[in-house]
Amino acid sequence: MEKKELLYEGKAKKVFTTQDPDALIVSYKDDATAFDGQKKGTIVGKGAINNRMTNHIFKLLEAEGVPTHLIEELNDRETVVKKVEIVPLEVIIRNFSAGSFAKKLGMEEGIKLLSPTLEFSYKNDDLHDPFINDYYALALGLATREEIDVISKYAFKVNQVMQKYFASLGIELIDFKIEFGRYHGQIILADEVSPDTCRLWDKETHEKLDKDRFRRDLGNVEDAYQEVFRRLGIQ
Ligand code: ADP
Ligand code: UDP
Repeated sequence: MEKKELLYEGKAKKVFTTQDPDALIVSYKDDATAFDGQKKGTIVGKGAINNRMTNHIFKLLEAEGVPTHLIEELNDRETVVKKVEIVPLEVIIRNFSAGSFAKKLGMEEGIKLLSPTLEFSYKNDDLHDPFINDYYALALGLATREEIDVISKYAFKVNQVMQKYFASLGIELIDFKIEFGRYHGQIILADEVSPDTCRLWDKETHEKLDKDRFRRDLGNVEDAYQEVFRRLGIQ
C-alpha cells in the first residue's frame, strides 16, 4: 500500500489517500501542540511511539470486541487504516480528577472518582471544541441516538480494557480522549490512543508520563514517552 495524496494535515498526524478508496495511510509527526494550538513544539520520537502504541492497544481492543480502524502497520510512523467519516465528537472518559475537570469543579488532581465519567466535546477547532451533551449532539445532527449509545458502550469498554492493561504496567489511567468513525454503517474506533491523548501516571510515584509534561513545562518530556513505550514491551 502506498501514499497517493495528502488528504489532511493535522496537528499531530498527516493523512494520505491510497489506491484503495476505503483505506488511508496515517503518518504520525513529532510535532506537539497544546492550548488550542497556541503552544507549539517537538517531542523527538513521539510519532513512532504514538503510532506503535496506538496499534498495540487497538489490537488488544479488537480482541476484546471493540472494532477499530487498524488495517496494517507499515513502518515506525505509518499505518494503513480504514477510511471513516469521523463523528465530530471527542469522547472523554475520566477515572480520576485532572485537567479541565479538576479546574471546573475546584478539585485537586488525582482524586479517584466514584464511577468513571463520559463526556463529549464538539470537535470544531473554530469553536475550540466546546463541551456538549448527548442532547446537543442529537439536536445538531452530529450523531444519532443509536450511534451515541454504541459510542458510549465502546468508550466504557475501552476504559475497562485499558485501565486493566495499564495497571499491569504500573500505570494509572487517569483520563483519555478517543474518536469514533462511521465505516460502511458501523461505528468503529479511529484516530489514536497515546500519551498525547491519555493521562498516564506512574502508579507508585504518580509521576506524569504523558503530554502534561509538555503542556506544563515539567521537563523530561521525551523520557516520559519513552518510559511508557518501554513498559509496553514492544520494542
Ligand atoms: P487534529 O485534526 O486534531 O489536528 P491529527 O493531527 O491527529 O488531529 O489529525 C488526524 C485527523 O485524522 C483527525 O482529524 C482525525 O479525526 C482524523 N482521522 C483519524 N483516523 C481516521 C480515519 N480512520 N479515517 C479518517 N479520518 C481519520
Ligand atoms: N484530550 C485530548 N485532546 C483534546 C482535549 C483533551 O486528547 O483536544 C485528552 C487529554 O489529553 C486528557 C483528556 O482528554 O487525557 C481530558 O482532557 P481535559 O478535558 O482535562 O482537557 P485539558 O486539561 O487537556 O485541557
